[in-house]
Amino acid sequence: MISFTLSEQQQQIKDMTHWFAENEIRPIALEADRLGYVPNDWLDKVNKMGIHLNTTSLKSEDDKSGKKSKKEREGNRMGVIATEEIAWGDPAIALSLPGAGLGGPPIQSSGTPEQQERFLTIFKDDKPRWGAYALTEPEAGSDASAVEMSAKRVDGGYVLNGQKIFITNGKRASWVVVFATVDPTLGRAGQRAFVVEKGTPGFECSRLVDKMGLRANETAELLFTDCFVPDENLLGGEELYKQKEKGASGFATAMKTFDSTRPIVASMAIGIARAAYEYTLDMVKREYPKQSRLIHVAADQLAKMDAQISAARLLTWEAAWKADMGIANAQEAAMCKAYAGESALQVCANSLELLGPVGIQDHIVEKLYRDVKVFDIFEGTNEIQHLVIARRQYEPYGIRV
Ligand SMILES: Cc1cc2nc3c(=O)[nH]c(=O)nc-3n(C[C@H](O)[C@H](O)[C@H](O)COP(=O)(O)OP(=O)(O)OC[C@H]3O[C@@H](n4cnc5c(N)ncnc54)[C@H](O)[C@@H]3O)c2cc1C
Repeated sequence: MISFTLSEQQQQIKDMTHWFAENEIRPIALEADRLGYVPNDWLDKVNKMGIHLNTTSLKSEDDKSGKKSKKEREGNRMGVIATEEIAWGDPAIALSLPGAGLGGPPIQSSGTPEQQERFLTIFKDDKPRWGAYALTEPEAGSDASAVEMSAKRVDGGYVLNGQKIFITNGKRASWVVVFATVDPTLGRAGQRAFVVEKGTPGFECSRLVDKMGLRANETAELLFTDCFVPDENLLGGEELYKQKEKGASGFATAMKTFDSTRPIVASMAIGIARAAYEYTLDMVKREYPKQSRLIHVAADQLAKMDAQISAARLLTWEAAWKADMGIANAQEAAMCKAYAGESALQVCANSLELLGPVGIQDHIVEKLYRDVKVFDIFEGTNEIQHLVIARRQYEPYGIRV
């Protein structure tokens, strides 16, 4: 049996990140949504405070140094605990915090030691910096194996041509992990992952996308035109791709990433749901007429919302715990991502209903309702998460779904 009581250190992280969310993020959340960006001076300030969206804390320094035994590793659990609090403050600002973002885990899991040093240490800089992850294309979203962006082998490196869409922090990123194919007829085996640095000739941001939710967070379209990337930026180096029998490919790198990032994304959805739930509970307690039938209806709804949030959190913590222990967690990662995204959407919808006319534009819950929708889309839609789960259920019977 696993204990889900927070350790002293985990409680400290939770308290510290909650304080930051309440005092530094919440006060600017609605204004950032209105503006459509997070102000640079605020980002400078939090960078100096050492606050990052630290997806690479998936392995803490102690984990990496091997000082901690498997049993003591807790980077993934720390990650989901902290992320829930930060997203409670505001999910768009959480995604805009400086750091490697979704680009961190592939470099950490597949990069050579030299690449890890080169790309993951830049975030300690005085200036805020970002990393990004570019898999999605106009014709390749859920089906990541359909990537069309080409990588042509040339002397000393590769030439990339193609387009990537919906890339979080793609414009401001110092580097982007980009997935491309050396030969589309090879399917997954033909894929490679490259780290493309800002300023590389032939690499540009063609536009920023205007979105319904997460408006303060930048989502970019990227264009690669005869973009030369040197050998040393091929993630994992040629050696990695020679290990075909081990299933090495850019596709495998992209998939491995999801096992650690889906619990992080799930914890963001939980933070959003909790923010909406807490606001609504407080308002119902203060504003609804006592002893009315209405308050019983609200109590029933709020009890269901509370249970959904707790269930999503338990699934997420289990997925994070398994990742810390080095136990395969693809199924739990898919389950928590699907359940947290779906239930957070329901919680925000119920909150809006209970708030009635309060839930109008320029209100925190209205914003959360717009923000939460994408959590059943990015990092794999809910249908794709269900497919991941179903495949594991049917595989033993030789049935392919
Ligand atoms: C705000 C935002 C930020 C994003 N950030 C990033 C990022 O940083 N990097 C990145 O690479 N991508 C990013 N994405 C892209 C995101 O991951 C994709 O939108 C997502 O994977 C879905 O792909 P798609 O939009 O092409 O939809 P499609 O794949 O075209 O899917 C359309 C619909 O069909 C369903 N569907 C598709 N295939 C199946 C199937 N086999 N079985 C059942 N149903 C199916 C889907 O569930 C969905 O409902 C971001 C997207 C958004 C909106």
